[in-house]
Amino acid sequence: MPGMQTLHAERLWTPDGWRIDAGFTHDGGRIVECEHAQPSEGSAWVLPGIANLHSHAFQRAMAGLAERQTNPEDSFWTWRDTMYRFAGRFDPDTLHAVASQLYAEMLEAGYTTVCEFHYLHHAPDGKPYSDPAAMSRALIAAARDTGIRLTLLPVLYMRSGFDGRPLTERQRRFGHEVDAFLRLFDLLRAEQNDMLRVGIALHSLRAVPPDAMRNVLAAMPLGAPIHIHIAEQVGEVADCLALRNARPVEWLLANADVNRDWTLVHATHLEKDEVRGIAQSGATVAICPTTEANLGDGLFPLRAFLEAGGAWGIGSDSHVSISPVEELRWLEYGQRLITRHRNIAVGSTTTSVGESLLHDVLADGEASTGHAVGCFYVGACADWLVLDRDAPQFVGSAPEDTVDRWLFSGNRPVVREVHVGGVERVRGGRHLRREEIAKGFAGAMKTLLA
Ligand SMILES: [Zn+2]
Repeated sequence: MPGMQTLHAERLWTPDGWRIDAGFTHDGGRIVECEHAQPSEGSAWVLPGIANLHSHAFQRAMAGLAERQTNPEDSFWTWRDTMYRFAGRFDPDTLHAVASQLYAEMLEAGYTTVCEFHYLHHAPDGKPYSDPAAMSRALIAAARDTGIRLTLLPVLYMRSGFDGRPLTERQRRFGHEVDAFLRLFDLLRAEQNDMLRVGIALHSLRAVPPDAMRNVLAAMPLGAPIHIHIAEQVGEVADCLALRNARPVEWLLANADVNRDWTLVHATHLEKDEVRGIAQSGATVAICPTTEANLGDGLFPLRAFLEAGGAWGIGSDSHVSISPVEELRWLEYGQRLITRHRNIAVGSTTTSVGESLLHDVLADGEASTGHAVGCFYVGACADWLVLDRDAPQFVGSAPEDTVDRWLFSGNRPVVREVHVGGVERVRGGRHLRREEIAKGFAGAMKTLLA
């Protein structure tokens, strides 16, 4: 951990936009003072690191391997079969190697915190490892080795449908009963430190019976992040309506104290009342545009949700793309395609789409991750990105068009440096341990594809 240091920036991103000639002092991984700098002291363009609210690390290894038509009705559900086959091959070592590669790529892209929605708990035959947290520890080690800030969300996964049918053979390595799940939670909770928060995830309403949900929620410490997949698929909405007489979000809002600690992942298929209900609850929606597009899920009702004052962030979920730029751009483009209008995601303080997207995605990272991230304030995590101000797309850039040029000019990476907890992890656009991590990943892929 470096000692006290002061960063001077020519432009520093704040919730009110760029501040010119500003900076902060950090010590022990946290910001201890925010200040105005003297002009000419700094030339960097600096912004807070971005939180990735939804990740299944192992799925990075199968990105691009499910893009061949197996039948004309291919859907989320046929993709899931491929995913299950792949999931069956992982052990703690291969998970560590794949997660390390993924997290290094996330850091290079500008994500400095990741919420890991982790359900690959047991050995492939469904038996717990001798250390029941072995797979979780592989993820913790990958985060530590790469330097990304982690919110680990062990997933409760109990049933394979709303009718309560048991897990299938391929799902058995995901499963827990409530007592064993809470023991795992306590075990992981004891590992928490400044770089690691532990919350929980409910896999989905179909995977967790109502009484189990109530028991687990009753055991949660105050402020622990709670994430859930919800209303991603129309089939899931139909099943929930048939068996619980309510739509998924409607049912959840009526049966749980959904508040700021909650993150609803996807929440794609919503009625007007559900849009308002989520916004009023203070929960964050984790939208995963590239995965939702890849899986053919549908489009989140962004405009209505913004008008209701809803909180949201982005996740890379199945990791068909590791780029906050691409997630944000496709979030906006999806809305343009369906409404046949332009410039949809604008907030109340700026007419710039890029600035509005960046503002929102940073604003809600803290509630969803449980880490003090997304804004430079005294006490916050010292996590920041430096943009490559010499990149061609920034030639002649004024502060007010910089973010739009960053998000809406393609895929050339412009994140030059990344620091997490005050520690440099990416320099010149490359993770400092890139080669060594890539070697480990190649070895793991050889095993997984054998
Ligand atoms: Zn997911």
